[in-house]
Amino acid sequence: MAEILSPIDAIQYRLIAGFMAGAILGSFSTMLSYRLPRRLSINWPGSHCPVCKTRLRPRDLIPLLSFAVQRGKCRYCGILIGWRYVVTETVLALAGAAACVIFGFTLWLLIALSLIVAGVTLIAIFMERTSAGTGSYSR
Ligand SMILES: [Zn+2]
Repeated sequence: MAEILSPIDAIQYRLIAGFMAGAILGSFSTMLSYRLPRRLSINWPGSHCPVCKTRLRPRDLIPLLSFAVQRGKCRYCGILIGWRYVVTETVLALAGAAACVIFGFTLWLLIALSLIVAGVTLIAIFMERTSAGTGSYSR
């Protein structure tokens, strides 16, 4: 007996939804990996440039896209944004897409994404501590 899938379960929707959710979680992970080791609040102040202190607008916070549009620089002062941000967002976007394809929209997906975010954040913190940092942009 053939199983009838709803359109939301189609693999292309899982890929797109997983990629987008993963990219957003990647942005969250970069913020955690910057602020947690420095014992900074994770909810205040909002995302800002640590050099010019300008609060980032929503258009500056679109994962991957903002980095590409701004060519890896702060829109306001021009300082280079560390590559670890775009790498982390890309890794989590791909991992999110894979997890969404594997688990579908289930509780297992939430568990997998939580573990992926925790793991990537810990790896980013470890790598920054061992390499004296590859970027100082605070998100
Ligand atoms: Zn700036």
